[in-house]
Amino acid sequence: MDIQTRDDLLKLFQGKLNEAMRFYLETCTRCGVCTEACHVYASMGRVQNIAAYRSEIVRRLYKKYFKARGKFWPSVSEAKELSELAVEELFEAAYSCTGCRRCMVHCPFGIDTQMIMSIAKVLLIGHGSEPEVLSMLADMSVAKGDNVDNVRDSFVAGIKNLEDDVVAKWKSEAGADVIPVDVEGADLLYVALAGAHSIIPAAAVFNAAGENWTLSFFEAVNFGAFVGDPTKTKLILDRIVNEALRLKVKEVCICECGTAFRVMKNLSGKQPFKVTSITEVHARYLREGKIKLRKNSLDGAVTYHDPCQIARNAGVMDEPRYILSHLTDDYREMSAEPKYNWCCGGGGGLVALGEETIDFRMKSARVKADQVKNTGAPILATACENCHTQLSNLNDHYKMNVDVQFLSSMVADQLVQQ
Ligand code: SF4
Ligand code: SF4
Repeated sequence: MDIQTRDDLLKLFQGKLNEAMRFYLETCTRCGVCTEACHVYASMGRVQNIAAYRSEIVRRLYKKYFKARGKFWPSVSEAKELSELAVEELFEAAYSCTGCRRCMVHCPFGIDTQMIMSIAKVLLIGHGSEPEVLSMLADMSVAKGDNVDNVRDSFVAGIKNLEDDVVAKWKSEAGADVIPVDVEGADLLYVALAGAHSIIPAAAVFNAAGENWTLSFFEAVNFGAFVGDPTKTKLILDRIVNEALRLKVKEVCICECGTAFRVMKNLSGKQPFKVTSITEVHARYLREGKIKLRKNSLDGAVTYHDPCQIARNAGVMDEPRYILSHLTDDYREMSAEPKYNWCCGGGGGLVALGEETIDFRMKSARVKADQVKNTGAPILATACENCHTQLSNLNDHYKMNVDVQFLSSMVADQLVQQ
């Protein structure tokens, strides 16, 4: 690696060194408690997938370039040279970690491996070694934000085509506001994913609850976060923040996308609107009696997979269970405590990389498949698109014989007229 490239990468490294990061990099005692916590290690048994091992690659670079002992006495302080080989190791560490933070809740010091991996991802971008497709998808999202006026009419026309399907789930006939778009003064801005499955059920439930809502022009997914690019993450996020401010909404509701929800919740800063997940909104409607659901008309017992970015990393754990208590008397937990639930194995951009990662995704999530099968429930609900895709892949691969469903669709399908 030439000196200029190394200097540029070290500047990027330095930019990530806030107080929390220094704590994570300086605290690990190698106690090994996190070893079994990672689904990748638990499923595959490879030492390089232990959380502390992944972090050690970044930690040794930190010691070499940012600690005096490592600079002057590298052999004793386990410092590591930033080389082409180190970049390869960073790739292997970062793109085999889903950022689920299960290791963090087991670590006695709360060391956040996902945060440490964010250094690896930034260095990979700086080196031009990140998965190209993720950067490309992030660029496309940013471009859409810059050119929204050009796509406005076609977007509205496309949305009109979905109205009949919404009406089939709720209301006897279509009205002008079946899927409201660009409504200034709406109470709630709903940010969906690209695709009818993310819009139709949500619209039916909003209409059933009598919500004063409007649909965002932008899709929720943040590919900038997947690839670990802070600048693109912010640009993609800002499109939605600016739209919410322009429409003067009181609430931004994020669809079933874990990363989009966590990014919006944690990075949008202090705003005049609150940020909620659609799961929280549906639980609220039930609590307030705004919607009512048919109970026990599902085809068998139900279990629920907690998406890491919505549950463990954003605290939405009671709400899905509350919703499910309105849908079934035969609910089966996967783990004793939701915050210790196994990751599905598809986060951190791995599902977005599709076929490229499927072999690894299947092998590294064997413990998840076992967890689902052990419940014996034929219906597997979840509330994240990534998780839904990964769980469906696992269903095929491990012959789990479950019906993987979006929780929001289950709610929409069981709406009853009040
Ligand atoms: S549990 Fe925490 S302190 Fe122990 S090895 Fe893992 S990261 Fe280090
Ligand atoms: S964040 Fe998740 S995938 Fe990454 S090391 Fe920790 S447990 Fe493993």
